[in-house]
Amino acid sequence: MKRIAVRNLRLCTKDCLCLYVCPYGATDTEDSIIDASKCTGCGICADACPSGAISMVPEDYPPQQVKTDEVKNAIEKLAYSRTLAEAKARRAASESGKDGLRRLMKAIEGSSRLVAEDLMREGRYMLPQSSNALDLTSALLDDPPSKDFPEESAREILSRIRCNDRKESGGSYRCSVCFTEFTADEGETPICPMCHASGKDLETI
Ligand code: SF4
Ligand code: SF4
Repeated sequence: MKRIAVRNLRLCTKDCLCLYVCPYGATDTEDSIIDASKCTGCGICADACPSGAISMVPEDYPPQQVKTDEVKNAIEKLAYSRTLAEAKARRAASESGKDGLRRLMKAIEGSSRLVAEDLMREGRYMLPQSSNALDLTSALLDDPPSKDFPEESAREILSRIRCNDRKESGGSYRCSVCFTEFTADEGETPICPMCHASGKDLETI
């Protein structure tokens, strides 16, 4: 199975070692995305990267195995338990007067949500939480592509699912990646000035 290299931009420290070692110039790109059309999958860059920012992944993933009902039920139970853990951590964070404990609970809340989301995706549910997906759902509702479009379900999604990456109103934020606190003006998309995290990596304070 052919492998190709992919770079995790969040881990990359831009020391450019991969650029020097790649024999095919696949890492020398304007947008920092490794050029898959030049990459032969030799793995030299991944071995050289001091930050562990490069992973070797299959070029073509095998088709997903069909899941039995037993597996699907187990996934749903696990996802439910992570959802409960998220809710408890959120409550503990909001009730705690200690900053350290509050941050720990926020981290547990976030990691529980990530695990629950992964489980739901594994169970083959789509979670339209991004602004792009919600805007698309809204546009489809305004102008349904066919008579069969499930308008009721689309309305339910828009009313129940919270957008996880749109925080456009001004205010104060804390970055959950580097813990920098900063403010953003009204209408400005908040982006951490230290590590450039945005969206769900920011919490309102
Ligand atoms: S070697 Fe690793 S850390 Fe250095 S530029 Fe390449 S991906 Fe980034
Ligand atoms: S795996 Fe080999 S060919 Fe691909 S980017 Fe890394 S060094 Fe270059």
